Amino acid sequence: MFIDPHVHCRDGTQSYKETIAHALSVAERAGMSAIFDMPNTDPPIFRFEQAAERIALARQTKSPVWYGLYVGLSADREQIVDAVRAYDELPEVVGCKMFAGHSTGNLGVTDEKSQQFVYDTLAELGYTGVVAVHCEKESLMKPLLWNPLQPVSHCVVRPPQAEVASVRDQLSFARIADFNGTVHVAHISVPEAVDIVESYRKKMSVTCGVTPYHCLLDSSALEKKGLICKTNPPLHIKPMVDQMMDYLCSGAIDWIESDHAPHLLREKLHEPHLSGMPGMPFYPRFIQQIAPRMSTHLLHDVTFGNIQKKFGIDIPQRHCEPQTDLAREYEFDGFG
Ligand SMILES: [Zn+2]
Repeated sequence: MFIDPHVHCRDGTQSYKETIAHALSVAERAGMSAIFDMPNTDPPIFRFEQAAERIALARQTKSPVWYGLYVGLSADREQIVDAVRAYDELPEVVGCKMFAGHSTGNLGVTDEKSQQFVYDTLAELGYTGVVAVHCEKESLMKPLLWNPLQPVSHCVVRPPQAEVASVRDQLSFARIADFNGTVHVAHISVPEAVDIVESYRKKMSVTCGVTPYHCLLDSSALEKKGLICKTNPPLHIKPMVDQMMDYLCSGAIDWIESDHAPHLLREKLHEPHLSGMPGMPFYPRFIQQIAPRMSTHLLHDVTFGNIQKKFGIDIPQRHCEPQTDLAREYEFDGFG
């Protein structure tokens, strides 16, 4: 029924948070036909061999949910060559992921010169797939303003301007490089960033995806519910959240991605106060909520059609009744 193109399975040293086998099982019950896994694991997925090993883990589960994987990008030419080879040769590798600002894990290509180098190299190698980018400009972050006793301070640490500036950077770098693939702005959260994406649509292939929480929860949730609602990018003020929902319902956003990122409760409530929430359990309830606000056609596009088309993968559609009580699979549910 649905594709969730942004899921963090954590097999490796962090398998206590989530595993491919468990995420696929939740995905099956949430009504997913496919999930795409992210590479910021420990150790991260950078290499052809690492991708192949991870895909083998997914195959072992014999899940009816199709498993796709992103390979991480660094500013090392030889690594980029290896990532492109994984994309070319492994059918489950759906694209490459670049962290233009640090989030969970150590993957980050944070200086602008290195980001330009990544697009230049991908263009030179003739890569025409998707590069999903975590867009938050590191130089505009204010880590010194973080105060865990006031979780809402996280919104000042990673301000909306950091996302807007990074989206502008990435799209202009890709254009300068004559990059022939698609730049995907992952978990877009600021209306002005959606406007920038829109302004580039005629010039190059660009897409953006939004999480349910950036359409529903505003920064007051960080005051009411506290650190469990800490995410990257952070929650924003209510007018921005409402605008993101309007953009989704009017077709300005290409698809929904849950950014399913479970951590242990203690890792969120205490040091290192990790960012991320389990998103997949809430996905079916979110679809119920937005269905009355859009045509059946658009609903199909943002949950399946646009993703299938952009990634060019023939994913068989599963039909099942999605379960809406999956939150109990995790220690907490930020949507509550
Ligand atoms: Zn993510």
